[in-house]
Amino acid sequence: MEMLETIDTQSFRAALRGQVIEPGDADYDNARKVYNAMIDRKPRLIARCADVADVMNAVCLAQKNGLTVSIRGGGHNAAGLGVCDDGLVIDLSPMRYTHVDPKAGTVRAGGGSTWADVDHATHPFGLAVPSGIISSTGVGGLTLGGGMGHLTRRYGLTIDNLIAADLVLADGSFVTANEWQNEDLFWAIRGGGGNFGVVTSFLFRAHPVHTNYGGPMLWPLEDAPKILRWYQDFIREAPDEVSAFFAFLRVPPGPHFPEHLHLQKMCAMVWCHTGGPEKAEAALRPIREMFPPALDLCGPIPHPALQSMFDPIYPPGLQWYWKADFINEISDRAINLHMQHAQELPNMFSTMHLYPVNGAAARVGKSDTAWSYRDATWAQVIVGVDPDPANRDIIVKWAKSYWDDLHPHSAGGAYVNFMMDEGEDRVKASYRDNYSRLATVKSRYDPANFFRVNQNVPPSRDR
Ligand SMILES: Cc1cc2nc3c(=O)[nH]c(=O)nc-3n(C[C@H](O)[C@H](O)[C@H](O)COP(=O)(O)OP(=O)(O)OC[C@H]3O[C@@H](n4cnc5c(N)ncnc54)[C@H](O)[C@@H]3O)c2cc1C
Repeated sequence: MEMLETIDTQSFRAALRGQVIEPGDADYDNARKVYNAMIDRKPRLIARCADVADVMNAVCLAQKNGLTVSIRGGGHNAAGLGVCDDGLVIDLSPMRYTHVDPKAGTVRAGGGSTWADVDHATHPFGLAVPSGIISSTGVGGLTLGGGMGHLTRRYGLTIDNLIAADLVLADGSFVTANEWQNEDLFWAIRGGGGNFGVVTSFLFRAHPVHTNYGGPMLWPLEDAPKILRWYQDFIREAPDEVSAFFAFLRVPPGPHFPEHLHLQKMCAMVWCHTGGPEKAEAALRPIREMFPPALDLCGPIPHPALQSMFDPIYPPGLQWYWKADFINEISDRAINLHMQHAQELPNMFSTMHLYPVNGAAARVGKSDTAWSYRDATWAQVIVGVDPDPANRDIIVKWAKSYWDDLHPHSAGGAYVNFMMDEGEDRVKASYRDNYSRLATVKSRYDPANFFRVNQNVPPSRDR
């Protein structure tokens, strides 16, 4: 443990509005848990920060005592980057708040908010911010890595809708980053992850979204090659208001699904059309006629309901291991490999998703934000999940061997938020030409690499 004896935790507790949790405290084991139950780290201290002043205090304590720091937003990161061994966890979970300005069409969210918080706040105003597909995910981590989901094709990545962020930097100072203040920092945090500081609040542009036409359509696994070929052509040309991600899955044995399909291996498309029911039905008519689904659950659905549709399947506390890539094209050879691994889907939690990142997201320049892969069509993620720690090796092996086979058919890098701890080369491959600029910004705002529990971009040496 780092300088354990010298830390004045008593003064720290007294200085904080939020809670300080240490080994031995009743809450400790609960507070160090993250969403992925495969992660079992034991921090020296957990500071549940109630406000910006608490975050400044926590940063100063860590600097003074040479403590490693991790930043915890929603705790969803599969690599467990919200928690660290022996160091200080800056836990932003008490900073869950939202404020909608309906006139301006904006929403401010505290650094520890979840997407459920944001959707809850914006929906009554008929507004939504593009985010992910599970509502318990943190606004912090998802936004800073990029943020993709049902509204990406229509309104861009989450970062494309970020107007400003407030941060506590490594030296404990507080800054705002936007298009006209600390522009280099604003550029870097739009894709560069938690490398640059603790974001205490985010200001987003919201869009008029209320009731979508969406949900899953399922087909037998053997139909996947023809569905994938159709989908590939369709999504390249589809108007921005249509989104569909492709999935391999096993049908959950729940009441929403007919019993004869329970646990069957199938392929699916999960739709989200934001152009109204008539246009949606017209857009979906070709696939419904050409390849009638075995199960069609697609119809009008309030945005927050679509956003949280999969939450019950994925409660916190499961084992997660995933591998990712960006994809430009799905060749017939790749389809064959997908089919081999889909046949081996280990259980009803494990899956493979192809999220489209074209449409509006692709019309932002490659170097306009830190997110480099504006030319990719999909972000692919191979997800091994199981409730039982005893099956850990099975899901890891499946995800790794699936990825090993498909990686040569990818664009090279991956979405940083879909990566485990995979080393510097993978991070470099994911930022491509933007990497050196990120390292330069890092050297300006965090020259000692204080914030390094993340998909780390070390500061450049030649500043
Ligand atoms: C079930 C599930 C579904 C997902 N679906 C999607 C999806 O549809 N789309 C998508 O884009 N991603 C998705 N993700 C990936 C998700 O974006 C990442 O896991 C992300 O890191 C989660 O953010 P968090 O705040 O919950 O994570 P945490 O574990 O709390 O934090 C992860 C890292 O993010 C950084 N961070 C978090 N908050 C802050 C902050 N306020 N200031 C500075 N740094 C911060 C830190 O570096 C931290 O180490 C999903 C993840 C899961 C587990």
